[in-house]
Amino acid sequence: MCDTLVALGSATADGATLFAKNSDRPPDERQVVSFHPPRLDAGPLRVTHIDVDPHDGPTIGCVLSVPTWCWGAEQGVNVAGVAIGNEAIYTTLDPRAAPVGLIGMDLVRLALERAPTATEAVAVITGLLERHGQGGTGHDPTGAGGPKAYWSSFLVADPTSAFVLETSGRTWAVEQVTDVRAISNRTTIPAFDAEHRHPRQPVADLVDPRWRASQAVLAERPVTVDALAGHLRSHDSCALPGWSVCMHAADADGRLVEVTTASMIAELRVGCSPVVRSLTGHPCRHDYHLVPLACPPARPPARPPAHPDLCRDLVICNHPAAKVGRAGAGRGGAGRGGAMWVGRGGPGRGASGRGCQRVRSVMTAMP
Ligand SMILES: [Zn+2]
Repeated sequence: MCDTLVALGSATADGATLFAKNSDRPPDERQVVSFHPPRLDAGPLRVTHIDVDPHDGPTIGCVLSVPTWCWGAEQGVNVAGVAIGNEAIYTTLDPRAAPVGLIGMDLVRLALERAPTATEAVAVITGLLERHGQGGTGHDPTGAGGPKAYWSSFLVADPTSAFVLETSGRTWAVEQVTDVRAISNRTTIPAFDAEHRHPRQPVADLVDPRWRASQAVLAERPVTVDALAGHLRSHDSCALPGWSVCMHAADADGRLVEVTTASMIAELRVGCSPVVRSLTGHPCRHDYHLVPLACPPARPPARPPAHPDLCRDLVICNHPAAKVGRAGAGRGGAGRGGAMWVGRGGPGRGASGRGCQRVRSVMTAMP
């Protein structure tokens, strides 16, 4: 489960794009948030389940929130100002029958490492999706809940544009965001939803209350970082206890089955480095901290502390932390979407070269 939101500059106080995501995952899964510097891959790149062709040139440095068992990322922001988060979704196509391929988290990371704009990130994702397909577990197969396969939807944003991308196997659809948009654990692009929505997924109880709450906070203008942080910490607007935006979902025996394990808020501005705030664990219990988009400076060799208490103080003070104020969620109506594109790929198609060109040309041609 997850919830992801975006507000373009038309909806924010200073024209920045604001991106926010809660990552809801198995309670025993840990995520690490860190900066990944540019990398030059000389040969095939091993992602979570398969090898993919290396990128042509150095990758783009990015902050990634990575579950420790896999290669991909739940959410992230690159130094060019692209932010991406994904959602587990279910459709009429059973993901358990798919052979191993890419998983949604791999596609999040591959797009952030290879794309300097949201448009190009969509092209990277759809190109790789059509070439390799999706398949394999998106949960740690050795974790308490075992393996779990699902399809992914994505919210892709940069300082001036954003897109919703929804998938079912190798089939995908894209909607351009015109103002604000939220996604959750269901198909939401109207035509794609009408054709592919899982007929028995209990979205009314488990998904729609969170999705509507996200739409409501985006309807309060201007959309602010504090409002998004307050929303990501919220526990109201759920039909069943625990299935809230800040998730604490338990089974009938009271055992936690799905919880928010990481959260990220990004400010994306033209000509400026992105501002990224992140936390791991529950947003209701932890504060957001600024994450630098650079490698940490080299530390001098460790020396025995002159005084143990002083040493602890220094470690705490050296954290480049900035806290986000707490705020309540807003109220109001739904977000709006724009044009939509649909594609269906087959195996053996180009990953990034021809695929990018094709998608870009389709996008340009649409109203
Ligand atoms: Zn909570």
